[in-house]
Amino acid sequence: MASEGLSYIIVGAGVFGVSTAYHLIQRYPHASVTIVDRDAYDAESRVAASWDWNKVVRADYDDIVYCQLALEAQDIFKSDPLWKPYFHETGIYWMCRSDYAQDVINNYKKLGRTADLQAVPIEEARKLYGGLFEDADYTGVKEVLVNKTSGWAAAGDALRAVTKRTLELGVKYHVGEVGSLQFDLDGRCTGIKTTRGEVLSASHTILCTGAYTPKLLEYSAQSSGIKDISAGSRIVAGGITTGMTKLDDESYKRYAQMPVGVQGYTAATGPFIGSLPPTADKELKWWGQTIFRDTREVLPGRFLSAPPAEPDYAQWKVSAKLKEDIDFANQVFYGKNGASWKMEKHRICWDAFTTSSDFIISPHAGAKGLYVATCGNFHGYKFFPVLGKYVVQMIEGSLAPELVQKWAWDRERPDPCLNPDWPRFEMKDLLDVERTSKL
Ligand SMILES: Cc1cc2nc3c(=O)[nH]c(=O)nc-3n(C[C@H](O)[C@H](O)[C@H](O)COP(=O)(O)OP(=O)(O)OC[C@H]3O[C@@H](n4cnc5c(N)ncnc54)[C@H](O)[C@@H]3O)c2cc1C
Repeated sequence: MASEGLSYIIVGAGVFGVSTAYHLIQRYPHASVTIVDRDAYDAESRVAASWDWNKVVRADYDDIVYCQLALEAQDIFKSDPLWKPYFHETGIYWMCRSDYAQDVINNYKKLGRTADLQAVPIEEARKLYGGLFEDADYTGVKEVLVNKTSGWAAAGDALRAVTKRTLELGVKYHVGEVGSLQFDLDGRCTGIKTTRGEVLSASHTILCTGAYTPKLLEYSAQSSGIKDISAGSRIVAGGITTGMTKLDDESYKRYAQMPVGVQGYTAATGPFIGSLPPTADKELKWWGQTIFRDTREVLPGRFLSAPPAEPDYAQWKVSAKLKEDIDFANQVFYGKNGASWKMEKHRICWDAFTTSSDFIISPHAGAKGLYVATCGNFHGYKFFPVLGKYVVQMIEGSLAPELVQKWAWDRERPDPCLNPDWPRFEMKDLLDVERTSKL
């Protein structure tokens, strides 16, 4: 491909941004590709949702598009030497309170994929994996989906390794916080300006900024005077708590080979909760059930949800109420078996949401030269190996019409009340003490 004169700024070094850079530089080896992120890619601690100890990698979706996409990504996780060291095929154990198990099985069939997956009756399931989930809460559960081909990835380690490879291929990495986007007199996006005042220019600017996206767009709308730059109601930043326990040697022996655990609920009863197998440091992890916004006045008269303004999104300041969310998760997975575990390493993780839980991978309708590729909706990590392939197709205009429509900036969106993962709480109601407002 001719790549003379092509230049790309990718804001955000999470899975959307890094995958985009990885695919772009291979497609256009002579193009200038620069990732800009507020954190160094190998920093000790990062705000990215993609930076984590582990993430579930599964194709167990009732939406056939994501089922197919996840299978494509999982094939790479299982075979490509770049991703393979980070994938653990432990299986998944999903307590389903709807027809989810059957929907997933049907999707695999429709896609012509054979895999070791089945819907298991509760009493039979309780005995699996040495009875690890014997004391879980099965209230309302119809059956348990067991897919031995699903698993998890060492998320932060994989992100660092793929970023490093991407830089070796010629991508540049600039550490800095983007304060606003830059536009020319015709309203075309020409690049970014950091909060330190550095201006970087490119023919294409791609926002992969996760939960921070609505705030960045709002600031850019104000500084440029182009009001259509705002995300409006398209994207909402949502937070959730994770917590870990360090298993003693005896418990570790019992749980080391466990599958990923999922407690599936319904739109009426709440979001699904997960428990991930222990890491090499013997730490077993959960995510909670309380998904919240942090709505503030980010500019005079402009209210939206964004991660807290601290440079680390205040991600390690977790209130007692949110820690209780993890205790609850422990209880519904392990009951008396986990009752004595000490909970530690609590973190609040932020991601960007749409009401349909679809990504936005689209040109921004408000300005030429500007693209958006984010909105993981708490499920984006597993697509890491392939996200960039679709972002490149979107930029080139060769994305399949079905995906153009599904991931569009402008499309009809469903009512959020149908979405169990929609952020329903406000963070201010979940804090121990009132935090002072800091913009
Ligand atoms: C608790 C939790 C559990 C999850 N579990 C799973 C799971 O098991 N499986 C799964 O598939 N997915 C999971 N997800 C979802 C997944 O982590 C996200 O969907 C995905 O990581 C989002 O990637 P991203 O690249 O859009 O955003 P991020 O990873 O958040 O990256 C955005 C990047 O943009 C940078 N940035 C933002 N604004 C600026 C700015 N102004 N200037 C400079 N840099 C900026 C940030 O520093 C950050 O590095 C989970 C999410 C959470 C929160």
